[in-house]
Amino acid sequence: MESFPASSSAQSILTRLDELRSNDVRWRDGRAFTLAYSAGPEVEALAADAHRRFATENALNTDAFPSLRTIQAEVVAFVGAWLDAGPDGAGFMTSGGTESLLLAVKAARERGRRERSITQPNIVLPTSAHAAFEKGCYYFGLESRRVDVGEDWRADVDAMADAVDDNTVLIAGSAPQYPQGVIDPISAIAAIAAERGINCHVDACMGGITLTYLRRLGYEIPQWNFEVPGVTSISVDLHKYGYTTKGASVLMHRNKVLRSYQTYLTDNWLGGLYGSSGIMGTKGGGPMAAAWAVMHMLGDDGYLRLTREAKETCDRLAAILDSIPELTLRARPEVTLIAFGATDPDAFNVFALADALWRKGWYVDRQSPPDSLHCMVNAVHANHLEEFEIDLRACVAEVASAGSSGDQGSYGTIE
Ligand SMILES: *Cc1c(COP(=O)(O)O)cnc(C)c1O
Repeated sequence: MESFPASSSAQSILTRLDELRSNDVRWRDGRAFTLAYSAGPEVEALAADAHRRFATENALNTDAFPSLRTIQAEVVAFVGAWLDAGPDGAGFMTSGGTESLLLAVKAARERGRRERSITQPNIVLPTSAHAAFEKGCYYFGLESRRVDVGEDWRADVDAMADAVDDNTVLIAGSAPQYPQGVIDPISAIAAIAAERGINCHVDACMGGITLTYLRRLGYEIPQWNFEVPGVTSISVDLHKYGYTTKGASVLMHRNKVLRSYQTYLTDNWLGGLYGSSGIMGTKGGGPMAAAWAVMHMLGDDGYLRLTREAKETCDRLAAILDSIPELTLRARPEVTLIAFGATDPDAFNVFALADALWRKGWYVDRQSPPDSLHCMVNAVHANHLEEFEIDLRACVAEVASAGSSGDQGSYGTIE
């Protein structure tokens, strides 16, 4: 361990921080196909300003900060409108997709316990559903029943129905699912939940905003939001395609009763009645204010434009990948995600391709099974796809001729 340093000047500290980030992926130049999203410098500057104004404010108790109560209520109302939540819809902001999914799992467990006295709860979900559901089961003591997806990577609804039993408290689908970017058959999944009176969560962390605007742009989008009877909650991340700073997502419930199972209350300590809407106690106002500001700056027309740009760029990338014989798409992109693998995995290693791209400053996600690369295309890529195509073709040629192998890597970080 280094010893704790003596004080330094603000200038030298900021210089050091800039040095530290000099090798980070250049996401503002469209070089990250994951993790960071850019709607351009003006939006970023406003988000940073708004964030700074509320960075130390605390939404744990909004009696002291009524500003944050208003900000949260407006953000949730905007998201509710996107999701066709209607007047009964009720939600909270969370710190991200993972917290939203953890709380969806917790709310389902709580409802099962209170309404049906279930003590050994399970949830039924496709193998494509996000790892955060698994984390929720692990944290809150539920059994995760994973059901294989079909050939087209979509949830297999009949197999899911077979996996449901009297202890099932939650069934879930994604719009779209993260690994291959296809939309699960939400109406059919929700019908199982409606029949049994259990929770049905739609994970729209990635797609909630995009799908809303794709439909407005005239794309054929199957029903996936609260217009589907039986859907009880939906998660939408604002720090992805909402283009705001990190730490912002919304978990919406169909009504306040369902939302009540999310919150936590206790008076079993010496500090009085303590209530919180989410996992966290102290809740930073920065991400909330930034999300509110960005949503106002972009507005309906801004999200429409950004969605069009992201989708058109995603389709252009799909066409580029189609034209490279070594690579094959896992699925035709339905939203703005593309996963692709090697046409002949014995002859071509996609992780080596990811290594080669990273040497040229491009960051793509790696995943398996099956061994694949994964790109989340956002609006910033519109002006950088030509550069990417040139480097991609060069890297494919390099890997094909060298026959090199790479590492799978992992989605998260453990150190
Ligand atoms: C990103 C994502 C999550 C998890 O969200 P975090 O913000 O990374 O915690 C969950 N589900 C889907 C579909 C996602 O794309």
